[in-house]
Amino acid sequence: MTRTDIARLRALDEAHVIHPHRPVTHPGTVIIDRGAGCLIWDVEGREYLDATAGLAVTHVGHAHPALVAAATEQLGRLEYYPSFWEYGNPRAIELAARLAALAPTGPGKVFFTSGGSEGIEAALRMARFYHHEGGEPGRTVVLARTSAYHGVGYGSGSLTGFADYHVGFAPMLPDVRHLTPPWSYRRELFDGADPTDFCVRELERVIAEVGPGRIAAFVGEPVMGVAGMVTPPADYWPRIVDVLRANGILFVADEVICAYGRTGHWFATERYGVTPDITVTAKGLTSGYVPLGAVLVSTEVAARLDRGPDGFPIGYTYSGHPTACAVAMANLDVIERDGLVERSASLGARLLDDLSALADRSAVGEVRGAGLMLGLELVRDTPAGPDIGANVSRYIRAKHGVIIRNHDNVLSISPPLVVTDEQADRIVDAVRDALDRLD
Ligand code: PLP
Repeated sequence: MTRTDIARLRALDEAHVIHPHRPVTHPGTVIIDRGAGCLIWDVEGREYLDATAGLAVTHVGHAHPALVAAATEQLGRLEYYPSFWEYGNPRAIELAARLAALAPTGPGKVFFTSGGSEGIEAALRMARFYHHEGGEPGRTVVLARTSAYHGVGYGSGSLTGFADYHVGFAPMLPDVRHLTPPWSYRRELFDGADPTDFCVRELERVIAEVGPGRIAAFVGEPVMGVAGMVTPPADYWPRIVDVLRANGILFVADEVICAYGRTGHWFATERYGVTPDITVTAKGLTSGYVPLGAVLVSTEVAARLDRGPDGFPIGYTYSGHPTACAVAMANLDVIERDGLVERSASLGARLLDDLSALADRSAVGEVRGAGLMLGLELVRDTPAGPDIGANVSRYIRAKHGVIIRNHDNVLSISPPLVVTDEQADRIVDAVRDALDRLD
């Protein structure tokens, strides 16, 4: 691309593109033009190691020939047709069957969306409707947690536990209660108690306050991504889910980031030994080649999602999109054939060790992770100031050509599951150098 082409792109970007989470006037976009494996290149030809897999999406790496071939073949055969009413297509049917067999909810049913926010909206409707049909229409309250991210629809955005998403948008859904996340490192959240004890007691207290038979569902990410890769204590989920079950509350696992190997398991709920009623997935399902999400529903919940001849009142134009489903099948083939779930577990453990070896640097508060979903929480009150996370990740990109993300003061690392040992070393070297500069 010539200098003139690039300058033109920059001008058009500034004039016309509203970027998520960026001021509307925004000079200096890194315009990414192509990718291969774990590498990407910007329009100026600069190479980067993608240590975030985009937004924790690209499990099999960029430009994988098997996914490109699957998309190309399907586009030439049947690019799109709805899965509404009495229509369906082979790819969506095959994918649903495959996901139902994999699902931690057991071999139930699958509803397709275009992404995570839509999946959460669908799960909310399912949870509410499930109770309505079960003779408990008063179960309207939904529980989520502060610092959780569940999307930006009005339902999913109401569950998202960051004030930024609510201020200026009220009224959000009124029937949402936010609980404390199991963020053990933030001891001040727990009044000196054990984090799991605190969270379980809080849940019981909220159930008692809201009243029996009033809560429809608890929606939670097994490992909290946007919060900063917050991994719960091992006993957190089993004890929380026990309380939910005892009180007839559905457990909706938001595995939009976690699923399909990201945490070293097909689903992160397996890691914690709990079974959700509904699992919401997206991102790694197609490695992001084509937008697609899947809501995996237990047989018991699915059995109630029927309202006479018109069925369950939900449907997105792109539910069961044939091309997206064909790509998802090829993506799951690669994950299975190349043992990427196991790879995520083993390389993730090694990266966690290597990053933990940096814990003696003065800026490091905690290093944590599950599979290839790793977080390095920096201490906020250092001379580096409150923007330490943003400054460190920018430095790492500029100096080392490695893209990591910061969630506030947490450095988040989530490379494609195909990241090589050498590339993993490069990530650790870059982080080490940035931390050494702060000492
Ligand atoms: N849930 C979680 C845990 C997420 O991380 C995200 C997006 O990052 C979403 C839901 C929303 O997904 P989408 O951006 O595809 O709407």
